[in-house]
Amino acid sequence: MDPIRIAVVGMGKIARDQHLPAIYGDAAFSLAATVSPHDRGVDGVAHFDSLETLLQEGPAVDAVALCTPPQVRYDLATLALKRGAHVFLEKPPGATLAEVDALAARATKVGASLFAAWHSRFAAGVAPARAWLADRRIDSVSIVWREDVRVWHPGQAWIWEPGGLGVFDPGINALSIATHILPRPFFLRSGVLERPENRAAPIAANLIFCDTAGAPISMDLDWRQTGPQSWDITVETDAGTCKLSRGGAVLSLPSGTDHREDQEYSGLYARFATLIRTGRSDVDTSPLKLVADAFLRSRREIVEPFNE
Ligand code: NAP
Repeated sequence: MDPIRIAVVGMGKIARDQHLPAIYGDAAFSLAATVSPHDRGVDGVAHFDSLETLLQEGPAVDAVALCTPPQVRYDLATLALKRGAHVFLEKPPGATLAEVDALAARATKVGASLFAAWHSRFAAGVAPARAWLADRRIDSVSIVWREDVRVWHPGQAWIWEPGGLGVFDPGINALSIATHILPRPFFLRSGVLERPENRAAPIAANLIFCDTAGAPISMDLDWRQTGPQSWDITVETDAGTCKLSRGGAVLSLPSGTDHREDQEYSGLYARFATLIRTGRSDVDTSPLKLVADAFLRSRREIVEPFNE
């Protein structure tokens, strides 16, 4: 079978750190081109400063991986889908829910695969946590996602703009795991968003959700964390504690702790290849819905300005 010719669009941090190695490491794909306005691409691969130019003048591509900020993703995905190309959307899949719905409808119409990728769901501990939790009674859940924005998002002005999600950019990763491992749906009861007075997006959030059986789920997001960083989800059940830490890489159960090698992006690309080969899409917007609800239903507090 011929490899899927893919173009990587948006040659920023995640494209270089994760997408390129995953594509080079997966025989189902060949890197046909890169696209980015202010980047020179990689040796031996055609580079373009816009997706439009690639689609008009470049080598043929079967698929695109959109690694740009979310605010520009809808227009790029629409361009690609109009050409019948399969589309991999980095998380979050869009800046709004309605635009993602529109993309899904367009993908169906043109017969292309659309993949709303949630990389944290492919962390090593997530599938076994989901399997272990499936039959348990959930008593409570605590999500603590506290990191230093200066370390993880230096110079990313888009992340503070409308549609950039602020602290929900990492927080949505936690929600992508929680919506995947917990056996029942959950929804927001109340929340507080803290927004620096000089920024459009929150720097911290405290949210209370509950699942449909009434189990409380607390979420503590903070971008002002220095020192040790936390990406932890702790689930108390009738059979003891299930804890995912390090963003899902480490799973602790009453029977012991397991830590395996990072496999997120190789897992994502294997899934994308399967979707393309089987003519399907995978567009789960449930994590983005919960973030949208947080913006709908939370109280706002203005906090001190944030400067890098
Ligand atoms: P980033 O470093 O700011 O990179 C984004 C890149 O997109 C920039 O390099 C920019 O290219 C490019 N771009 C902007 N508009 C474009 C357009 N119209 N056409 C083509 N390229 C365009 O951001 P990032 O950290 O890689 O994050 C990108 C996305 O991946 C976000 O949605 C984020 O949530 C997600 N993500 C990030 C991480 C992470 O650890 N950083 C992890 C997982 C997922 P130029 O520089 O050439 O202008």
